[in-house]
Amino acid sequence: MQIKFWGARGSIATPLTNTELTAKIQAAVKRSINVELSTDKKVSEFVKNLPVHIRQTVGGETACIEIRTDRCLLILDAGTGIRRLGMDLLDRFAGQPIDAHILMTHTHWDHISGIPFFVPGMNPDNHFTFYSPFDDLKERLKLQQRYEYFPAPLPATYKFVRLKEQKTLKIGDLSIQTLPLNHPSGSYSYRIDSNDTSVVYATDSEYQNLSVESMKPFIDFFQNAELLIFDAQYTMLENIEKENWGHSNVFTGIDMALKAGVKKLAFIHHEPAYDDEKLWDILQKAREYLKINKPESKLELDLAVEGLTITL
Ligand SMILES: [Zn+2]
Ligand SMILES: [Zn+2]
Repeated sequence: MQIKFWGARGSIATPLTNTELTAKIQAAVKRSINVELSTDKKVSEFVKNLPVHIRQTVGGETACIEIRTDRCLLILDAGTGIRRLGMDLLDRFAGQPIDAHILMTHTHWDHISGIPFFVPGMNPDNHFTFYSPFDDLKERLKLQQRYEYFPAPLPATYKFVRLKEQKTLKIGDLSIQTLPLNHPSGSYSYRIDSNDTSVVYATDSEYQNLSVESMKPFIDFFQNAELLIFDAQYTMLENIEKENWGHSNVFTGIDMALKAGVKKLAFIHHEPAYDDEKLWDILQKAREYLKINKPESKLELDLAVEGLTITL
C-alpha cells in the first residue's frame, strides 16, 4: 500500500509567501559562509543537511491523500491538493481510463474545493465514485458547482454511495470502515485495511472528554493501525483557546496512538497561521514529549508534508 499526501494544510490553501521564501534563502546563504561548495555534489550535500524547515515546506494545498494498492486507487478528500493529483493521474494513465474511489470525510471547503479543478473528472471515460455517510453528498457538491460559483456543472458521470456506520465496504483488496468524529456539522474517520496493513485517516476532530469511556470508540477504531493520520491543527494552548472549533493537537494524538498500539503517526491539517519553522518545531516538541513519557516506545512521528509518500 502506498500513501501519498497531495495536500496537508487545514482550513484554507496557504501558499508560501515571498517573505517566507526570502527568509529561507537568507538562512541557507548564511549557513553556507565558509563552506566549500565547488561541485554540484557538495551543494546537494549542503542542502540535504540544512534544517528541514529551511530546505522544505509542508505545502499549502488542502486535504487530499492518495492510497494505491495493486488493485485499487483510493482518494481521501478533495481539497485543493486533488488538482495536482489529477494532473499526475493523467500522466500516469496516459489515455487509459481512470477508475478511482473518493472517500469524503465531510464537506467543509478545505475538503471539497479542489473538485471543480479535478481535470480527469471531466472525461466521461473515467470513473469516479464518491463515498460518505452523508445522505446528501451529491446535492452538496452540486451546490458548489452552481453556475454562480463555477462555470461547469458537476460531471454527470460521478457516482455516489452512502456508507453506513458499522458496515464494512469492500473495494478491491481493501476493507473500509467509518466512524463519526466530533467536528462542527460532522466529520468521519476512515479505517482502510488490506491483507497485511492498515491506515486510519482521522482529520477534523476534537477530543474534549478524554475519559477512558468516551475515548474507547476512537481507540478501538485506531487499534493496531500501521499508520494513523491525525488532525493536529493547533498547539495545546491554542487548542484550549479554540474549544469547539473541532480540531486537535499532537499530544492528544500521541496519547491515543500509544493506547491503540499504532506504529506510525502522521500529523495533518496544519494551521494556516503557522509557518514551516513553527510546524517543524511542533513536531520536535511532540518527539520530546514521546521520549519523556514513553522512552521505550517505537511509535514513529512525522508531519504530513505535501509530496510525502509512505509505503506500508
Ligand atoms: Zn478541514
Ligand atoms: Zn472541517
